[in-house]
This record gives sequence, C-alpha cells and structure tokens, in this order.
Amino acid sequence: MSVVLVVNSGSSSFKYQLIDMAGERVLASGLVERIGEPQGRARHTVHVHADPGEPTPAVESATSEIGRRIPDHTAGFQAMLDAFAAHGPSLEAHPPTAVGHRVVHGGARFFAATPIDDLVETGIDELSVLAPLHNPGALQGIRAARRSFADIEHVAVFDTAFHQSMPPEAYTYALDRDLAERHRIRRYGFHGTSHKFVSEAAAAHVGRPLGELRQIVFHLGNGASVTAIDGGRSIDTSMGFTPLEGLVMGTRTGDLDPAILLHLQRRAGLGVDDLDRVLNKESGLVGLAGANDMRDLVSRRAEGDERARLALDVYLHRLRSYAGAYMAQLGGVDVISFTAGVGENTPLVRAGALDRLGFAGVRVDPERNEGAPRGEIVRISSDDSDVTVLVVPTDEEIEIARQTLAACS
Ligand code: ADP
Repeated sequence: MSVVLVVNSGSSSFKYQLIDMAGERVLASGLVERIGEPQGRARHTVHVHADPGEPTPAVESATSEIGRRIPDHTAGFQAMLDAFAAHGPSLEAHPPTAVGHRVVHGGARFFAATPIDDLVETGIDELSVLAPLHNPGALQGIRAARRSFADIEHVAVFDTAFHQSMPPEAYTYALDRDLAERHRIRRYGFHGTSHKFVSEAAAAHVGRPLGELRQIVFHLGNGASVTAIDGGRSIDTSMGFTPLEGLVMGTRTGDLDPAILLHLQRRAGLGVDDLDRVLNKESGLVGLAGANDMRDLVSRRAEGDERARLALDVYLHRLRSYAGAYMAQLGGVDVISFTAGVGENTPLVRAGALDRLGFAGVRVDPERNEGAPRGEIVRISSDDSDVTVLVVPTDEEIEIARQTLAACS
C-alpha cells in the first residue's frame, strides 16, 4: 500500500492531506495555523469512505480544534502527529511512504518534481529572492517535516515546473538582455500543478491521447492564469516573472502598462511598498468594484450595479484576449477547460470568455453550462461544437501526491 502525505506550507501555517494512492482516497486533511503566535490552532478532519472503491469521501467525521501555542513548524508537525494519534487514522496502520511538498518557485533550475536532499533545500532557499513571500515558508515546512519523518523520501513539487517547457520566445521579455540575465528576469509561470492535472484529466475525459491535443486551461480562482498546452506541454502561460501578470484577478491587476508604475512614482509619490500593495492587494476585482468574490459581483451586476458590470466586463475582455492569443499560438484548439473557484462555479464567466469564438467552432451550450453539476468533469460545449469545452474540478493535492510517488520510484 502506498500512502503519501502532501504538505503545503507557508511561513505561519501549513495544510496537509494524507492520501492513500490506491484509489487516490484522502484519509485525513488538516491545517495548522498561527504558528509563532500566542494562540496557535490546529484542525484535523478524518475522511470516512463508505465504499472503498469511491474516490471521494462519503462522510467526513467531526473536526477537532486544538488551541495552544505552536512555537515553530517542528511543533506544528508534532501537533499534526498528536491529532492523528487522537482522532485517526493511525499512522502505524497507514504509514506514509513519502511526503510531497508544494513549493511555489523552482526558478529555471527545477523542471520536475525533485527528491529533496540538502542541496535541493539550498536551491529552494536561493530561489527565495524570486519568491520572498512563498519559498521561505515552504522551506520551514520541509525542514520540520524532514525531522518529523526522517526515514522516508521527501519530494518538492514546484508550481513553476510545468511551464519550464515554454520555448524561449514565450518566456523571454524584450528587456535589456544583460540586465534580465543578471536578475533572472524571465517568465516562469505559476499554477503549473493545476494546469497539468486539469489538462491530463481533460484528455482522459475526451478519451484522446494527451500528446495529440491542443488545450487551453483557464485556472480562475482568486489568483488566475491561463495556459496554452500543446501535446501535454505548456507552451505559454499568462503569469510571468511573478503571479501578478496576465488575467484580472481577485485583488491583482494582471497586465498593466509598466509605465504606469513610473507615472505613479513620479506623480502620485508612491514608493515601492505602496506600489506592491496597490498592484497585488488593492486592484483587480476589489479595486474595480470593491469585492473579489465572484458571487457578489454576479448578483450585483444582475441588480444593475454599474461598478460590478464594468469589473466583470474588464475581467471577461481579458479572458477573451488570452483565448484568442493562445488559439493563435497553438494553431487552433481541441479542448478548453475551466477550473478553480470561479471557473468551476460561474457559468456567466465561462460563457462570456468564449462567446465571440463561434467563428472558430467554439460553441457553449447554455443549458449544459448553467446546469453543470459541481464536483465532476462536465462537457458544456454543444454537440455541434468543433472544440470540446469542459469544466474540470482541479485537485492540486492529488497531483502533488502523484508526482511525489513518481519521483520516488
Ligand atoms: P484560490 O485558491 O486562488 O484562493 P479558489 O480557487 O478557491 O482560489 O477560488 C476562490 C474564488 O472563487 C473566490 O474568491 C470566489 O470569487 C470564487 N468562488 C468560490 N466559490 C464560488 C461559487 N460557488 N460561485 C462563484 N464563485 C465562487
């Protein structure tokens, strides 16, 4: 039996899932948060499966909350082990064979899931320059987990790795070459684990080999990106040097004329930290309409709210631009998929992103789109559509577990 523990660690919290890879069933999941604060918190949920063959949990048992100080990640892992001991499942009965760690930035160095040794740890540490908000937290989790689970393999799974297949013309900015090289400025792309999972699930769903398909995947969550995938390989993606570029997001601008930053520095007196905050936290849907939850925006728009209307129009305009651009880069498209919080739940966004592509044989069926059941792969294109349009629930933890297992064998 192989069981993988998946860990997604930030600087003051980590999430985990224990996954039985036979049937890819989640046995338990949890969250340890407020590490280093006076009152830490741990939540542990045991997933009970009615039928051993069912991939999704039939019943989730009660969740337990543990309130006490958790000084560091090592203590956090101890809290997790205590929760397993108290509530199950028993780690003796389901011993993890490997731990898979989500790491945001693998730079140009890590192009696949990588077993972790001290050298890899150092590599992740060096890449903190490129991901100062993410890699240090992942590293704390890795170090603590390697202490808590000293006898099993640990694997780093990078958000950027899937996009390392992009050709130079897609990842190179037209910036002074020496300057760019010195500072490692290029497009890296993010959400790679999700784009990979969704494109593979979509190929399996349509019953065609991944290698034959031209796909576009829209990952629309609070953060959002779209990827052009040719034969299973990412050839272009909307996020770039950082996760700020590309689509309009919950709180991020996406694409912006870079001269605006110079103008705001010169004319509005904004410093580097101000700009960082404005671009990453106060823009996007929040900046345009004061809310980043798509449910709010859709209902406000239906009530005639002009700010919500404009915000959605800008959001959809950007989606259409990328859909067209990626069809051009791929030389056509066979499958378009929507995933993540907005993509899986908002028919209006899916329809709006593709509504001008009838000329290219993309036809969304309004009833299928509106009535798409949640939590499963659904085809929303009409029977006469040349292009298959799908809603595909993403599962980054399962993908991390799969890659972890593959990297260990
Ligand atoms: P992230 O992982 O980037 O935080 P998610 O993929 O969980 O994001 O997506 C979160 C967003 O999805 C929310 O901000 C909200 O706009 C949207 N969302 C979540 N559930 C729904 C829903 N039922 N209907 C419409 N939008 C939803």
